[in-house]
This record gives sequence, C-alpha cells and structure tokens, in this order.
Amino acid sequence: MTTAQTSTVPAALEPFLAKPKQLLINGRWVAAASGKTFEVYNPASGEVVAHCAEGEKQDVDQAVKAARQAFEDGPWSTMSPSERGRLIWKIGDLIEQHKEELAQLETLDNGKPYGVALVADVALAADMFRYMAGWVTKIQGDTFPITVPYAPDAEFHAFTLKEPVGVVGQIIPWNFPLLMAAWKLGPALAAGCTVVLKPAEQTPLSAIRLGELMLEAGLPDGVVNIVTGFGETAGAAISAHDGVDKVAFTGSTEVGKLILQAAAGNLKKVTLELGGKSPNVVYKDADLDTAIAGAASAIFFNQGQVCSAGSRLFVEQDIFDDVVSGVSEIAKNMKVGSGFDEGTEMGPLVSKEQHDRVKSYLDAGLSGGATATAGGALVDRPGYFVQPTVLSRVTDDMKVVKEEIFGPVVTAMPFKDDREIAQRANDTDYGLAAGVWTRDIAKAHKLAKSIRAGTVWVNCYNIFDAALPFGGYKQSGWGREMGYAALENYLETKSVCIGL
Ligand code: ADP
Ligand code: MG
Repeated sequence: MTTAQTSTVPAALEPFLAKPKQLLINGRWVAAASGKTFEVYNPASGEVVAHCAEGEKQDVDQAVKAARQAFEDGPWSTMSPSERGRLIWKIGDLIEQHKEELAQLETLDNGKPYGVALVADVALAADMFRYMAGWVTKIQGDTFPITVPYAPDAEFHAFTLKEPVGVVGQIIPWNFPLLMAAWKLGPALAAGCTVVLKPAEQTPLSAIRLGELMLEAGLPDGVVNIVTGFGETAGAAISAHDGVDKVAFTGSTEVGKLILQAAAGNLKKVTLELGGKSPNVVYKDADLDTAIAGAASAIFFNQGQVCSAGSRLFVEQDIFDDVVSGVSEIAKNMKVGSGFDEGTEMGPLVSKEQHDRVKSYLDAGLSGGATATAGGALVDRPGYFVQPTVLSRVTDDMKVVKEEIFGPVVTAMPFKDDREIAQRANDTDYGLAAGVWTRDIAKAHKLAKSIRAGTVWVNCYNIFDAALPFGGYKQSGWGREMGYAALENYLETKSVCIGL
C-alpha cells in the first residue's frame, strides 16, 4: 500500500461551495426555521468544506405541505405522461452535462476516487433517470373478464388503474450520495409522486446540486423538496409524519427498524434497503486470476462501504492459500490516498465515526485470533484512511464474520464441499447479495438457487443496472430498488368495476 499526502478542493467547485447550502422547499432555497447549520467535512483531510442548513421537524412540516400541494393541485398532477417523462429524461441529461462537477462533489464529500465517482456514481445516476423516464408512458393497468356467481345475468367492465402512492419521504445514506438520490427519485417521479428527500448528514452536497439541476430542468415547485439535517431529527420527523404516504429508506438495519416503528402511526407504506454480510464463494475450478481480482474488488470497491460488499470470502480448501495470498497482494499494492490524487484506488472512509467503527472491528478480529494477511490497521495520516485488510484464521462465530463492518475488511474462510457452503453462506441474518466463482455452470446455478439473497453474481460482482432489481431477503430489507420492481413500490392499484 502506498499513500500520497495531498488533498485539495478543486477550484471549479468554489462557486457552488461559496453559496449558502439551504433547504429546497416549494421550489425555493431557504434557511432552516431555527437558523441552525451543520458542518460538512472533507474526509481526506478532516477539514470543514461547507455549512449546511440543519432542517428539523418544522422544516419537514413545510416540505411535506409543499409536496402535498404539488401532488394534489400543482401542474405535476395534470402533466401528461409524455411531458413528465421528458422532464425526468432532462434531469438525466443535466447530470451528464455536469458530470465532472458532480463527481468532484462526491469525491470532496464522500472521499471516493474521482474516476470512480465519474464512471460509476454519476453515470449510473444519469442512467437511472433516463431508464425511469422511459417507463412513464408505459404505466398501465389491466382489464379483467370477471364472473360473479351471485350476479349471473349481469355484465361488467372491470379494469385496474395504476396511481401514484402520494407524498413520499426518502431517506438516503452517505456511501453513494448522488446515486442513492437517483435510485429513490427516479421511480418516485416516474410514478407521479412528490417527494421530501433527506440526504445523509455526512454527504449532503451532491443532492443540493441535484436539486438545483432539477429546478433547471423545469420540475414544478414542491415536487421534490430537500431537507438536509440529521437522522434523529429530520429523518425521524419524515418517517413519523402523518402527511407522508410512503417512506423509502436506505441505510443500516438498526435504523430501518426505527423507521418501521415510526411509520406505524399512519401505516405509511415502507420500503427498506438495509445492510448485508454477503458471501463470496470461490470454487477451485474457477478462473483464479479473475476470481482473485473479483474477490478483491468485491470488498475494496468504495472503501468497502457498500451494502452488497463481498465481505465473507469462502474459498474451496485446496486453493485457499493461493486465493488469500492473491487478494492480500492486491490489498498491499493498492494506492490509498485522496480521491483527487491521480491513480488513487482507495480513498478515506466517510467520517471519523466510520473510521472509529472499523478500527474497533479490526481490534476485535485481531484480539480474537484472526491473522491480517494484509493491512489490519488505520493509516497514520490526516483524514479517515484505513488499510485494505484481509483477515484469515477466523471462525464463523466471530464478530468480524457475523456483523457488517462497512469498511475495507474481508474475512477469508476455507470450505470443503457444496453442501457445507450453501449452509454456511446462508448462516446470516442478512440476504442482500452473494458471489459465486466457478467454470461449472451446473454448480453455479445450483448455488445461486440455494442462496437466500436478492442478488447473486456469478463470475462477476457489484454489477448494477437501472433495469435490474436490487434488494434484500431477510433483514436486508423490504422491496426492491431499480427496474420495474422499484416503480411498483410507488404505485397503488385501483380496481374499477362498471356494471354495464
Ligand atoms: P450510518 O449509521 O452508517 O450513518 P444510518 O442508517 O444511521 O447509517 O443512516 C442512513 C440515513 O438514515 C441517514 O440519512 C441518516 O440521517 C438517517 N437516519 C439515522 N437515524 C435515523 C432515524 N432515527 N430516523 C430516520 N432517519 C435516520
Ligand atoms: Mg447511524
């Protein structure tokens, strides 16, 4: 591992950073009712780069009111599907036109390498709006030839209408700030809902810039409201609000359960995309070079701050040492540094809190008997850097194997045969994703069927597309992101039956 010491704020961001970071309510940028602000940090240096309006319950109330009005009375409610689709498409175009600036904001705020932000976060965000824009003109119900036993002589015309769920609260995390906003806003807008969006307090900047771009695209007032602020205040107010018809959340399983409880008051609809501890299984017949590189990228991508990260690496016994040393070599040679430095492969973690959290897992693993064949410690420099780490000599009951670390730490474990691996892969409360590496197609299909997870990647990992549903079994969540499956979360089905 090599580290570079520079960390800069790109000059191109200065005009945006110089402006006050306010709340977007009813098409206007306003300060928080309390006048409070909070600090936003560059995780590569720990320096404050912006101050952001700290929205709380009062501001959420205003945002929900604006969203309700836009849903019921505004131009949004009468806009034709074609027009709504073109508007959503335009948001995608504007993201693409501002891709460098948005990628720089992600690097500054989240820490991730600029090149990754550009080709993954920003490109996927633009694509999500375009994919969902295409659905708007294709949201349609069915007709039903019904037979009613107690009305044998009557005739009916029965059909369904697909209608927007209403005002939606969306609470998103800090690991892919812009992309998570796109995953949430794309289907909500396509369905015709209106939104109160709360970005994570660690990374509010790209959502604010996206808010500006959505206004530029011509989104009517109140359709998307953005309330920056903390989870315990602004987030809790959204999830408990009686004026919100649905809440969509991405974040920790712990907070997902709090959201669910808060939502019980008015029984708002809930979708949750939560944590994971995904098994990544390498069979001895796999193409080893590809599998080793794939296993490393499955855990180290985005500094390991990925809900679907391949954090439990299971390797067939005969090749265990080869795979562990291969992944460890990659870890040791990774260039760790500021996301703005040329060639950086891994940036800092997002926050001091996350830095401390990952450190406590490293300590627990190493003191519990694990061996670090790469990394194992924090990086001694300003900013929240952690060494890419491979832990072996671990057992299935260790905290580092059971709990989601959300950092660049993989635990490697040998396995003997097919029966054993299916059981161990599923021995977790989570069920978000899994990886399988083998040249044997039957083996791949068989394991893919046995794993209780929302996504199984075979001979690839962390492949995302706006068309492909993503979400969790078990405690990894409710509902799906992306694809038509995501759109359905924002639609109600109304049956209409007409006696003829
Ligand atoms: P982490 O602890 O890794 O930051 P969280 O699940 O706490 O992950 O955060 C994800 C999102 O949930 C953030 O936008 C955060 O502000 C929000 N959040 C945190 N706590 C609550 C809560 N009690 N109610 C609603 N939202 C919350
Ligand atoms: Mg939290």
